[in-house]
Amino acid sequence: MDQGLKQETIKEIEKQLLSQKKQILDDLSDLSHKDEHESDDRGVSFPEYGDKPDENAQEISDYSTNVVTEKVLEKSLADIDGALNRIKAKTYGICKYCGKPIAERRLLARPTANSCISCKTELQENE
Ligand SMILES: [Zn+2]
Repeated sequence: MDQGLKQETIKEIEKQLLSQKKQILDDLSDLSHKDEHESDDRGVSFPEYGDKPDENAQEISDYSTNVVTEKVLEKSLADIDGALNRIKAKTYGICKYCGKPIAERRLLARPTANSCISCKTELQENE
């Protein structure tokens, strides 16, 4: 079956995904490194900024930003791993809902996409 994607296009996307993955792993290790530095019992306490109410608010907002960032990074990492696995399994570029090839320009814009535009649109309308 014709995937609609050239092998070299897939290679190019794979390269992109691998470098994104490396970037995310770096970011994640920066985050956890920071946590170890700034909190006494890791992950539970907030980094200490000061006693003023303003600064405490800042602390909490920094803390949740980190948690959110970490979640976003982990989600992206899972998406990237999924895409890399599909490349290995030779199912990359195939919509997981309808089994049709995903448009190349969609994949180039969003390499982790696993559904075609029409399925994606339908899903969003159903939500
Ligand atoms: Zn589809």
